[in-house]
Amino acid sequence: MASHIVGYPRMGPKRELKFALESFWDGKSSAEDLQKVSADLRSSIWKQMTDAGIKHIPSNTFSYYDQVLDTTALLGAVPPRYGWNGGEIGFDTYFSMARGNASVPAMEMTKWFDTNYHFIVPELGPDVNFSYASHKAVEEYKEAKALGVDTVPVLVGPVSYLLLSKPAKGVEKTFSLLSLLPKILPVYKEVVSELKAAGASWIQFDEPTLVLDLESDKLQAFTDAYSELESTLSGLNVLIQTYFADVPAAAFKILTSLKGVTAYGFDLVRGTKTLDLIKSEFPKGKYLFAGLVDGRNIWANDLSASLSTLLTLEGIVGKDKLVVSTSTSLLHTAVDLVNETKLDQEIKSWLAFAAQKIIEVNALAKALSGHKDEAFFSANAAALASRKSSPRVTNEAVQKAAAALKDSDHRRATNVSARLDAQQKKLNLPILPTTTIGSFPQTIELRRVRREYKAKKISEEEYVKAIKEEINKVVKLQEELDIDVLVHGEPERNDMVEYFGEQLSGFAFTANGWVQSYGSRCVKPPIIYGDVSRPKPMTVFWSSAAQSMTARPMKGMLTGPVTILNWSFVRNDQPRFETTYQIALAIKDEVEDLEKAGISVIQIDEAALREGLPLRKSEHAFYLDWAVHSFRITNSGVQDTTQIHTHMCYSNFNDIIHSIIDMDADVITIENSRSDEKLLSVFREGVKYGAGIGPGVYDIHSPRIPSTDEIADRINKMLAVLETNILWVNPDCGLKTRKYTEVKPALSNMVAAAKLLRTQL
Ligand code: GLN
Ligand code: ZN
Repeated sequence: MASHIVGYPRMGPKRELKFALESFWDGKSSAEDLQKVSADLRSSIWKQMTDAGIKHIPSNTFSYYDQVLDTTALLGAVPPRYGWNGGEIGFDTYFSMARGNASVPAMEMTKWFDTNYHFIVPELGPDVNFSYASHKAVEEYKEAKALGVDTVPVLVGPVSYLLLSKPAKGVEKTFSLLSLLPKILPVYKEVVSELKAAGASWIQFDEPTLVLDLESDKLQAFTDAYSELESTLSGLNVLIQTYFADVPAAAFKILTSLKGVTAYGFDLVRGTKTLDLIKSEFPKGKYLFAGLVDGRNIWANDLSASLSTLLTLEGIVGKDKLVVSTSTSLLHTAVDLVNETKLDQEIKSWLAFAAQKIIEVNALAKALSGHKDEAFFSANAAALASRKSSPRVTNEAVQKAAAALKDSDHRRATNVSARLDAQQKKLNLPILPTTTIGSFPQTIELRRVRREYKAKKISEEEYVKAIKEEINKVVKLQEELDIDVLVHGEPERNDMVEYFGEQLSGFAFTANGWVQSYGSRCVKPPIIYGDVSRPKPMTVFWSSAAQSMTARPMKGMLTGPVTILNWSFVRNDQPRFETTYQIALAIKDEVEDLEKAGISVIQIDEAALREGLPLRKSEHAFYLDWAVHSFRITNSGVQDTTQIHTHMCYSNFNDIIHSIIDMDADVITIENSRSDEKLLSVFREGVKYGAGIGPGVYDIHSPRIPSTDEIADRINKMLAVLETNILWVNPDCGLKTRKYTEVKPALSNMVAAAKLLRTQL
């Protein structure tokens, strides 16, 4: 019985690759140093999988930045602005595409399906001259082979590569990306031939786009591509790997009739319908790679349940054709539980990170072949039972309260325009009111204070004093700048989700549970393991302190339930919406306590609401319904005079605008940095928005300082589409990552632009 791993995290158990990359980028270490760290990481991963007994071990799942960018390099599809002159693509060109350089900005980055991983979007036009320009896949295969490991080289499949690309500037409207298929396949043939020559007997093409809603011309491209590759692939076992959802029935038909393909990999964790398809029409004589070990979460597998699924599958495809695998690449989970020495022992027994998942995969494969490790299985069963019955997981009062929410609507009693009138009487704001999104620059000094407090090196008293001083500084600055609605600057927060998770019950935190977000950037999501409740107020102390420092309105600042959910590792023992309702109730308590403390503007960030949108359209309505409902639960109980803001980190919400309106916030601020068009087109198409709206008037992701004229110009563009009395003026996101030398002049110009326009209206 064989075992397989779809892919593995690259960063290393202690983020070794991150530090090696950043040191190289800073010019503090050489290319050889970086290559050495990377080679060590690869060899230790291959060794780990070999030792565990994994049969099909992947190679080329390592990347210096991103696997899609690696494919762009493989194909020599470097946009002309990077000045590449052919030859093998080196670090210079590669990292310029990834991060930009002194004269050219980086390529665009976007989210990898519904994960928090971001890939570099290929830019392709009719004139790209594809050539085989990176031999990385072959080099990695040979490198593993030299270490005695015969791996399965992994490539991003040709069709998914094109479907994830965007048309180059200037040809957006006219160009069909799939028309490039005949041009990229020759390069794929070259790399496949080289891999064969090097001794590969298997090859894996990742074609995750097969799980999307694809039109028939796109499906046809898969048939065309693999027919064209068939002769080159002959002699190899070819695995087409899908993940993140089930493959829709039509795509399943196409997939299982592809020429030259001998194996199919499915995500059986999220792909709930795949099992039925396999039962009804899996082709004879082909391999089934059964992704039963969850690549996107941190929970230990239910080994006995997986084993029984495997036995069913074995009955369908036959013993020698079934391979146990992970549901997705393990890239999306944390690396190794071994380093979690501070984590509570009971909770730890419920978890499996990437390193542990490899062992699980192998244990399942062994059990299927009659060598069940009884001790391992019973330890797993005991851990699962403890998780099920542990009092720290269940809080009956919370469960009851959350269950009761489902059937009611939770809407504020008064409509938004009446509420805005009531609020205006109280707040007395000018037209085009100015505000910011919440955080102010986080200086090294500030981080030090927080760190020392956490390590108990400074007293609570000293800590409170330092944070209050910081808040006071931020308040005074905003008053000087003459901003209308102030923020306290969030100096007490390391992260907008972690800060709340640490104060809510039902959350656990890891020391090293990092997951790659993009490039060298990693996030460390909290683990929601139990029913969520709020033992005591979380932000009232700081918000009241901040309000006491000014006569202007001070925004209370909270993270919304959907964002907390989407940026955490979530429970797999209850539906996501149930967990979200629980968080919503905790945030509702906080909103009401803020209101009682005299805070009359409260912002509830839902930065990640859109990010949780399911991959398939048929599931959108259900998600949006409970997500929007959860948001409303947090604030439907406040008075008319309390102004509820929300903030979102994206502007392409054409498809969800009605849900956004249904959130029924009083004011929404949104990221809008790169294009006014995308956002404004929604309103141009006749969508009436009655609430306040603040599309970001400048990009905080760049150190560039926008001029007053430039900002005024952007506001004017918005005024052409939106009513004057609903428009707010604000940057497009929090200022946490900027320096004061950038923030002060930028905000000063922003306020000047608002004032200038007020005189003209
Ligand atoms: N209030 C948060 C901040 O200003 C919002 C961050 C975000 O939208 N990602 O930092
Ligand atoms: Zn934002």
